[in-house]
Amino acid sequence: MNMNMNASSRILIVEDEEKLAALEADYLHNAGFDTTILADGDAVIAWLKQQNVDLVLLDLMLPGRDGLSICREIRSFSTVPIIMITARIEEIDRLLGLELGADDYICKPFSFREMVARVKAVLRRLQVQGADYRSESLLLDADSFRVSAEGHDIELTTVEFQLLQVLYKQPGRIFSRSKLMDLIYQDSRIVSDRTIDSHIKKLRKKLAGLAPGQELIHSVYGAGYRYEPYRQDAG
Ligand code: CA
Repeated sequence: MNMNMNASSRILIVEDEEKLAALEADYLHNAGFDTTILADGDAVIAWLKQQNVDLVLLDLMLPGRDGLSICREIRSFSTVPIIMITARIEEIDRLLGLELGADDYICKPFSFREMVARVKAVLRRLQVQGADYRSESLLLDADSFRVSAEGHDIELTTVEFQLLQVLYKQPGRIFSRSKLMDLIYQDSRIVSDRTIDSHIKKLRKKLAGLAPGQELIHSVYGAGYRYEPYRQDAG
């Protein structure tokens, strides 16, 4: 996969609404990307197996075959970044629960500038992960629930540590609140979304002391949380 954003990265747009697809392509061209549009869900897999792309913008509702099953099948043979586009924000939480392996979600209607920004952000994030993830110097000690960076360390509560561990193991991946609850609590019916938010808030406060100026845990509006690797050279 070519992650060089300076050369023109190639984006596959899977969208059956012709005008919308054309506008997406226009904005991406203006931002320096090459694009290909496919309107038919059935054509996507065969096309991707023969072509190289840097990112796929995948509409959820398509004739022929829906975006969910396409996303799943792409993941069976490729790690190409995928941004899912859905018409309903309420749908996003359900999509996250399905663990499709998409890298980001955009809700219709969206601004095209926002779309371009999200495409760039996903490409940049993966580039950083590829280049720097191995130099991640945040250390998690599961025996003592302590986290350290550059010789400093902090102590976390059990839940805070578990939350950090889940997010940290898959940097860049968005976890919904309900997914986090399922992963952390034996019986997730006893906790609410707010419980997760409150633990995350405390965890972020502690991490801010360890990594000043870096936001390691990002909240994604309407979706959940994701971890971004600690950078030793920052701040
Ligand atoms: Ca559609």
